[in-house]
Amino acid sequence: MHRTVFERQAPPASAIDHALAGSRHEVFWLDDVERPAHPRLDGEIEADLVVVGGGYTGLWTALLAKERNLGLRVVVLEAQRVGWAASGRNGGFVEASLTHGDENGRRRWPEEMPLLDALGARNLDEIEATITRYGMQVDAQRTGTLSVAVEPHQVEWLRDEPVDDDHVFLDQDAVRAQVGSPTYLAGSWDRRGTLLAHPAKLALELARVAVELGVEIYEHSPATAVDDDPSGPADAGVRVRTKHGAVRAEQAVLATNVFPSLLKRNRLMTVPVYDYVIATEPLTAEQLAAIGWTNRQGLADLANQFHYYRMTADDRIVFGGYDAVYHYGGRVRAAYEDRASSYRMLTSHLLTTFPQLEGIRVTHRWAGAIDTSTRFCAFYGTARSGRVAYAAGFTGLGVAATRFAAQVMLDQLDGADTERTRLRMVRERPVPFPPEPAASMGINATRWSLDRADHSEGRRNLLLRGLDALGLGFDS
Ligand SMILES: Cc1cc2nc3c(=O)[nH]c(=O)nc-3n(C[C@H](O)[C@H](O)[C@H](O)COP(=O)(O)OP(=O)(O)OC[C@H]3O[C@@H](n4cnc5c(N)ncnc54)[C@H](O)[C@@H]3O)c2cc1C
Repeated sequence: MHRTVFERQAPPASAIDHALAGSRHEVFWLDDVERPAHPRLDGEIEADLVVVGGGYTGLWTALLAKERNLGLRVVVLEAQRVGWAASGRNGGFVEASLTHGDENGRRRWPEEMPLLDALGARNLDEIEATITRYGMQVDAQRTGTLSVAVEPHQVEWLRDEPVDDDHVFLDQDAVRAQVGSPTYLAGSWDRRGTLLAHPAKLALELARVAVELGVEIYEHSPATAVDDDPSGPADAGVRVRTKHGAVRAEQAVLATNVFPSLLKRNRLMTVPVYDYVIATEPLTAEQLAAIGWTNRQGLADLANQFHYYRMTADDRIVFGGYDAVYHYGGRVRAAYEDRASSYRMLTSHLLTTFPQLEGIRVTHRWAGAIDTSTRFCAFYGTARSGRVAYAAGFTGLGVAATRFAAQVMLDQLDGADTERTRLRMVRERPVPFPPEPAASMGINATRWSLDRADHSEGRRNLLLRGLDALGLGFDS
């Protein structure tokens, strides 16, 4: 079995101990912001549109609904705090892809890919324009993603990628001139396809703008049910209940991501997969000089189990990915977040990538639940005679795609026939995950196979090839 570079060049255990000593189990991004409080919903109110969920999907929906029609009364119900979940703890890679990467999209909707690419690029441009228009302070930088090969067989994968003004192939010397890691063998820099942002600031700024446009946000207000509105004529509206109140509205959007859906039909459509992240202390001038990285791209390596990493505005490195863990039963639980072996592995891999940083401290360690769907990107739909729209299943690439999803849901609620609602990607519903114990058996067998493939120069076993052929599988 081939050993990966992270095993061949692992740092001593003492270096990992030193780096992690004193780290806090806390999301760096949420620790880095002030969070304005919103009231709890007490009593029954009326609205035109009620949005359940105060992450990016819900906040983009509320903001765009107001941009479409400022006169609408829009209410957001958030179970805990705005942006506390995936939206406040992700890598902040705001990527153009709507399909969790080109290959996944091409395999499923080959005929739609030119349009999906164009819509994804437009969506990203519009996110950037929104940030500028409202003066959103989200540390945005359109520096692109640098994909790096760290094993010889991965170099060939990069060579196969198309090259143009915005997509550059970098050989070993050129990639190391960008970012000084002795593990890099080649790189591919997509200069325009990614904007990096501070994820928690993005959520909070979306909320700020939404409120300024007149949206009402209620925190600590978990919705418990969505029903037909019993007080109005049949088929006239919905009523979303919370423990202490309710919202009667013409329409509702469910933006609850990995959390149990209010619609039974969606309960098996996603599973939570835990993704782990560390953040270092700010790098010193000497450490920065030793690694370069002056273009501050988002970085990702290429194995099935890959890392994503980036710099923060105050020169920390945020380093995440690789270990993606599913727990039997598919529940979202805070107890799953502090996983010592994952943090040790990430710290080890960080020090392998940048041995120049020996002695650096990790200050924060955290995890988040990724809403994995069997097609690795969001699915869409409506319920209650078209008065409720939902989108979920972004599978680890949702920062930008949530805005597209918001547009799709608003189109659907309008009953509009648009280039978005006509997409096969939007109209098709993926297959659900099986119930337990089949879910964890299938997911864990797939994970094991992906790890084996990474240890076999990328070669996929029978299970993975079978899943590929069926368009199923598993990813983070
Ligand atoms: C560690 C990690 C790293 C990631 N990195 C990236 C990345 O770099 N780039 C990228 O594109 N994607 C990334 N993702 C994925 C991305 O963060 C998500 O796809 C995106 O944030 C989803 O937004 P959302 O609003 O749908 O979900 P969430 O942010 O999870 O928001 C859903 C909200 O709904 C609320 N809610 C749930 N149920 C109810 C209810 N019944 N009543 C009221 N409120 C409810 C929750 O409390 C929550 O606040 C990452 C995810 C994780 C976990």
